[in-house]
Amino acid sequence: MRKLCTVLAASFFVLLSIGKVVAQTPTPQTLVRAGRMLDPRTGNALSPAAVLIENGKIKEVGSPTQVQAHAPGVKTIDLGSATLLPGLIDSHTHLLIDIIVPPEAEIVRHSNGEFAPGLLLAIVESPTKRVLLGAQLAREDLESGFTTIRNLGHSGIDGDAALRDAINAGRVPGPRILASGRKLIALGSYIQGLNPAVAQAIIQQEFLPVDSPDRARDAVRQNVLYNVDLVKVTVGGDISPAELTAVVEEAHRQHLKVAVHAIDTPSIQTAIDAGADSIEHGNQVTDEQLKQMREKGIFLDLTPTWYHSLFMKITEPSIVMSPGFHSSKASSDARGQKRYDDLVQRVLKSGVKFAAGSDMCWFYPGKTRGQASAATLVNLRAAGMPPLDLIRAITVNAAEMLGWQERIGSVEPGKFADLVAVAGDPIADITELERVRFVMKDGQVVRNDLTSD
Ligand SMILES: [Zn+2]
Repeated sequence: MRKLCTVLAASFFVLLSIGKVVAQTPTPQTLVRAGRMLDPRTGNALSPAAVLIENGKIKEVGSPTQVQAHAPGVKTIDLGSATLLPGLIDSHTHLLIDIIVPPEAEIVRHSNGEFAPGLLLAIVESPTKRVLLGAQLAREDLESGFTTIRNLGHSGIDGDAALRDAINAGRVPGPRILASGRKLIALGSYIQGLNPAVAQAIIQQEFLPVDSPDRARDAVRQNVLYNVDLVKVTVGGDISPAELTAVVEEAHRQHLKVAVHAIDTPSIQTAIDAGADSIEHGNQVTDEQLKQMREKGIFLDLTPTWYHSLFMKITEPSIVMSPGFHSSKASSDARGQKRYDDLVQRVLKSGVKFAAGSDMCWFYPGKTRGQASAATLVNLRAAGMPPLDLIRAITVNAAEMLGWQERIGSVEPGKFADLVAVAGDPIADITELERVRFVMKDGQVVRNDLTSD
């Protein structure tokens, strides 16, 4: 019996070793071929197309005959007539929060009542629980084709940085993450009226309040302690030019870009004057400001989140609204949509550099986070953005805004092998981006609904 156990143990060990060897030997090369490949930079399509991948990076791009000749016998993934694109980039999202919009009566009795109750719950519940939510939403984003995302706050002290590291270490599946850690804010934004005994403790779990240039510099350093990739600041007429300039100076000294949430015209001006790298949302930007942004090379990160009545879509399945509340929401949606159409046209005319983000942070019944984010970004088409510009906003332009243009954003030799494929032509029907059929990140297949092998 003892001998048998030894034999069994030995065989088990051998099996384990074999398993290990197999798992550790990566396929040296993979070839992905498809009916077409769209290059967002030029707008040209290569048909048919092949991409040779080696060690997670793109080695060669060209016609299948040409590329195959350089890699005889290579393992091939044939995606049939599908269209290949670079992996998608969501430049503004919040993977560690999934706000459930409360009922009307609850909304009207709080300041920032749609968002604040859910935010407070997320802050005071366990950060462990929150980061596991992040792991789920990260996987869902990746499955919908987002191979890179920029997380701009609402992730506790270090939740997004920890999630990024876990994904990079292969512990959980997800996109590449650029983490901003805690948002820099002026006291009183987002949440007000907290119990004084615990107010500071609650705020500090989520935000770094700024009330002087010195505190602004210190806030950047606090985030550096958690190894952030960039700094996010919210300006709502409440951060002074001197404070924002201090943030930008300190962040740039630490080689970090600064993304500034600014919606109203004066806040956008503060961001431009302080030398922000990107302005998030920017809804009330003037033509003169777009010109200044173009001259300074500042990106506008468009967030068409509320276009097409997101509020109704996420609330109507579960919330009974009074007729008055419903009609006031519907008419403000319609006005907002018109203003957004105008914004998109002015941005396109101005020549300013732009990217796009979903700003998704809401629980969307019936959709995964990835599906909700894709549907949101596709709204830019309805707002008048041509399909190729929309695809650029979430690939090549976004890569440049993130400062990662050498790594991602296009299918070129030397870049990470991050690819997606859709069944049809995304230029003819941009909603194809809501139905990504194939996802590869780092040369590893995440999803393939196009071939059975
Ligand atoms: Zn946001």
